Amino acid sequence: MALLQISEPGQSLDPHQRRIAVGIDLGTTHSLVAAVRHGVAECLPAIDGKVILPSVVRYLDPKQGGAGRQIGFEALAAQIGDPANTISSVKRLMGRTRAQVGDVDKLSYRVVDENGMAVVETVAGLKTPMEVSAEILATLRFRAEDSFDDELFGAVITVPAYFDDAQRQATKDAAELAGINVLRLINEPTAAAIAYGLDNGSEGVYAIYDLGGGTFDISVLRLTRGVFEVMATGGDSALGGDDYDQALAAWVLEQAGLGPVADAAERAAMHREARRVKEQLSGQPEAVFRSEIVGRQVEQTVRREDFETCTAALTARTMTAVRKVLRDAGVGKDEVQGVVMVGGSTRMPVVRRTVGEFFGREALTNLNPDEVVALGAAIQANQLAGNNPDGDLLLLDVIPLSLGIETMGGLVERIVPRNSTIPTARAQDFTTYQDGQTALALHVVQGERDLVADCRSLARFTLRGIPPMAAGAARIRVTFTVDADGLLSVSAREQGSGVEARIDVKPAYGLSDEQIAAMLQDSFSTAQQDMAARALVEARVDADRMIAATRSALAADGDLLSAAERDGIEALIVTLADVVVGGGAADIEAATQALAKGTEAFAAQRMNRGIQQALAGRKLEEV
Ligand code: ADP
Ligand code: MG
Repeated sequence: MALLQISEPGQSLDPHQRRIAVGIDLGTTHSLVAAVRHGVAECLPAIDGKVILPSVVRYLDPKQGGAGRQIGFEALAAQIGDPANTISSVKRLMGRTRAQVGDVDKLSYRVVDENGMAVVETVAGLKTPMEVSAEILATLRFRAEDSFDDELFGAVITVPAYFDDAQRQATKDAAELAGINVLRLINEPTAAAIAYGLDNGSEGVYAIYDLGGGTFDISVLRLTRGVFEVMATGGDSALGGDDYDQALAAWVLEQAGLGPVADAAERAAMHREARRVKEQLSGQPEAVFRSEIVGRQVEQTVRREDFETCTAALTARTMTAVRKVLRDAGVGKDEVQGVVMVGGSTRMPVVRRTVGEFFGREALTNLNPDEVVALGAAIQANQLAGNNPDGDLLLLDVIPLSLGIETMGGLVERIVPRNSTIPTARAQDFTTYQDGQTALALHVVQGERDLVADCRSLARFTLRGIPPMAAGAARIRVTFTVDADGLLSVSAREQGSGVEARIDVKPAYGLSDEQIAAMLQDSFSTAQQDMAARALVEARVDADRMIAATRSALAADGDLLSAAERDGIEALIVTLADVVVGGGAADIEAATQALAKGTEAFAAQRMNRGIQQALAGRKLEEV
């Protein structure tokens, strides 16, 4: 039995299906989920329309019955009434011991060590930070699945650049608990830079200034050939928007001639009001603070200048950290090519102004600073899921040379293009070339050239047991999967019968950087020549297929034709067969067209006969 070949590329059926991949910003204060839809990254809202999910989980007393927990805004609203069982800022505990967390006593809930890791004591028992984070992640996963009405393929989750292995592993574990396939963890500053498309821009040094609710992170990244490298990170894990709230609350107390407030609930309410006023002041020159403090209704107008003055020390502290990180990275501020603003607190005009003045250039603020990390993660997730084959995003782990398979005529059909980020999975459908073909030889190759002879052979395998069908009727899906370690596996499956074959290959194995460079160089310099060769081979393959199909039709249904009609078709076949041997691509295409036109009437007659045969012997009601 002859092994038969795959059809030529133009005949491939529908492209691989889209996979639902999202980016998740698992923040200390807020978390978000975003996805690329119609080519644009956007944050996905909950049913109430809000994209932000407070990173807060409240555990309920199991003895009271009920669902057990509240997540997000519901938990946040309950925090004042039940601080001991309402977990916020759990990110600070991830992968840490109690001693490593620092300032645990300031948290409203109890943290103890268990098996060498900080865990939270709640009315519902001990909860690990991973479990708490998993509640937040699962909420975002369901949000994504609801909005796409489909299962989630995977997610890119962001972590601070300074997170160590234990903290990263804890984040991965949390995702696993939430039933999420982690495509990759990426650094928050890198995600922000990707959201601004800096990876497509000029090479150079970028600073990412991230002032959130409870933390300040400053990172210096270097972009080289589309790859971001973290040069230095710094900041202050106990400096954020909350401190601005406290400073404002203290200022209001002072204006009102009041001392420190003893009552915890009253203090919390006051901080909340301070936060509201602070946020309002980002958009307007003054706002009014109203709160009941020690039995007195306090009402205080706050001008933006007042706010900026009473928080000046905080803003100055962020700039001290900025100067330090530039020193650590060994770059001057004038070498910084762009400054990205991240985190809700960078909405404060004073922050934007101060940062802009320091760097002598306006900071990038046109994307929503709460969303920018999630948006960048979504772009990355979309790439990793293989949804954007044209994307030119280049990250650290990429496939150095394209991977593909041999198709009819010794041509290469590229399945995974060079520079695809890994892990990745790509699929393409092929069909059989000859009637009754029951096996398919697959030849996996690597390289940029169009002809198999010019590429590197990686592996061969055979798909057997395809039920005999007419040429073109079988649907064979060939899937290339490259895992995070660069391991390639190729599978071929006939969709109708389910017969399958697969093979594992190590693609990059044995090729040095120089060899890769040489193969690329080669492909660039010969691109023109390859294109012409490809056109010719494709035209020949088309012609051969047309001839074979016509011959088999004549054999089956030739009796439908008059002798003259039959002669006419035979003549067209002979002309085409001649030109295939000696002609150029254009001549072959023209002759193929002529044969196709000359057999149109015959094809229609065959179809009628087919329908009649199908209907023969059946009652009208059955049809
Ligand atoms: P995290 O990364 O820590 O989860 P976010 O980036 O969500 O935090 O930032 C939350 C902080 O942003 C809060 O302190 C909040 O008050 C502050 N914030 C949000 N909007 C504004 C605004 N319009 N003006 C000033 N601060 C704001
Ligand atoms: Mg953040």
